[in-house]
This record gives sequence, structure tokens and C-alpha cells, in this order.
Amino acid sequence: MIFDEVRAILDRVRKNEEKAFVILADGLGGYPLNIPSATKKTNAFFPTSGTAFFYSLYTQKTPEHHHTLEHYTRGEEGIYIPLWGKDLNGNRVEEELEDDLFSLLEEEGIQVQHLTPYLDQPYVKRWGKAQPLNTLSQLYELPEKDFTFVNWPMIDYTLHKYGPYSPAFNQEIELLELTVKRLRKRLPPEVKIYVFGDHGLTESQQKIFLPEIEGNLPVGGERAAFYQLSYDEVANALENMEGVLVLEKEELEAVLGFPLTPEIKRRYGETAVIAERGYGFVFPYAKPDNVFSHGGLSKEERKILIYIL
Ligand SMILES: [Zn+2]
Repeated sequence: MIFDEVRAILDRVRKNEEKAFVILADGLGGYPLNIPSATKKTNAFFPTSGTAFFYSLYTQKTPEHHHTLEHYTRGEEGIYIPLWGKDLNGNRVEEELEDDLFSLLEEEGIQVQHLTPYLDQPYVKRWGKAQPLNTLSQLYELPEKDFTFVNWPMIDYTLHKYGPYSPAFNQEIELLELTVKRLRKRLPPEVKIYVFGDHGLTESQQKIFLPEIEGNLPVGGERAAFYQLSYDEVANALENMEGVLVLEKEELEAVLGFPLTPEIKRRYGETAVIAERGYGFVFPYAKPDNVFSHGGLSKEERKILIYIL
């Protein structure tokens, strides 16, 4: 699992065995990059989207301990987006945040740098020293640190919008390959470069409108959603819908890899709805029109290749 791999990198950095330069190329999944490197296969979190990954990265806890699974989450005040720290109207939602990875590493005497275009995200703000990332060529100018983490979102963005056979996507991949190769030449050999995405994507052009059921709004993401209702209630309400798979509590626990906690039931519920291949969910309160998306259980979404240079 991807979190174990990240923890293993951090362990080696802590033990002074290596310096690590990590490029998180959101959405890259199992895409075959053309760069001279070793590769390691692993799996994404379920749901296969950035939310659980980033919460685990920043808190260094697995989802059963940080309870944050997907893009849309239920909070005290209603539905909100934890990764953006905002509710559906764009108002800030102040969450009580735990310690964050970068502060913890610094306390241990490890030199860190974090580059991201999302300086406004709650955990990024919490540390307060992340740098704005606008272009990949910025990476050539960085000072050498023990641990560098770069959040590069353009692969995911291009895939959602144009799909993987598009000129825009190819151009983004070429740019990433070129940057990584150049970076390898510039960085000293004791700095290991890691490139991976936190999930892949799959085709989701056929849209399924997820209704409110018995007063309960679905939360989740474009390929996995959650209701605070029983399996029977959800299965009955969605009975005639094509492309929908309803998971019972036990099946949901099996894909999550842990028993549902009271907090996860409170935020999400105990019945999950998964979009089958080719389908994507539309929520009553949001209208995305992505060609490709992620969050579900398909191989394309779950497989991750870690490139090690
Ligand atoms: Zn995405």
C-alpha cells in the first residue's frame, strides 16, 4: 500500500540512510513513464482519491485513525471538503488539526521543504512554510534538503478534463519525464528521487445522478459514495440504476482494510456505492463533468507505480 511505501522512505530519511526528493504526480497511477528508473508496484488507498492519501501523509496515520476518506465529507455543520477546508458555499470550515508531518520532521532536526500550488489547504497552512509551486522548472532551483515533497497536480487535472489519449495529457507526461531526467542529472547521487501518483483514473463519461435517499444526502467522490442508511434502504432506492454497485458494511470494511469506526460511520455511513467501469457519480449538490475520474475499485484506479531514480 502506498502509505507503507511513504513511511519506508521517511524511515530511511530519519535514519540518515538517504535524502529523498518526492514528486507526487497526482493521478499518475500505473502509467508507464519513459524514464531510466527502478519501479515498484503498490496500491492506492480506498477510496482511490487524494483525500485519504494527503490526510495520511500529513497526520502519519491510516484512515481508521484520521477518519477522512473522500472529497465530500459530513461534518457538524453539514457537507464540506476537508482537503480544501471549505463547505459547499466556499466558506472556511475550521477543523481541529492534529500535528502535521513537516512540523514533526523539523522537530526531529530533519530539513524539509514542501512545494504545492495549494497553500490554502488546512494542513499546508498549519505548517505555514510550504512554497508556491507554479512550474516544474522551479524544482531545479531548490536547495538540497533531507526531505523534499512536491505536489504536482497537472496530470490529474489534464486527465479529468481531456482523458489519457489527449494531446494535453501527452504533453504533461513529456514535461514530467523531461523534468525528472534533468533533476536526476542535477541532484547529487545521495538524493533519491521518487515519482508516483496517489491513485490512477478510469473512464467515467456515463453519469449517474445519486439522489438524496430518505433525507440522507450521499457524500464521497465521483466513483465512490456513502449513505448513512442500511444496505437494503440504499439498494432498494437505487435498484433500477445501471452502473451502480452497492456494498454491504462487511464488503466496505474488506476494501477499506479495517472495521468501520464510529467516527467514520458518523462522517460517511456504513453503506458504500461504487460506480462500475465507465460510470461516474453526480451529487445533488455538485455537477462535475469529468471524462475520467477516480475513487472506485477498478484496477486502473488502484494500481500505483513508484519510480525510483
Ligand atoms: Zn482527481
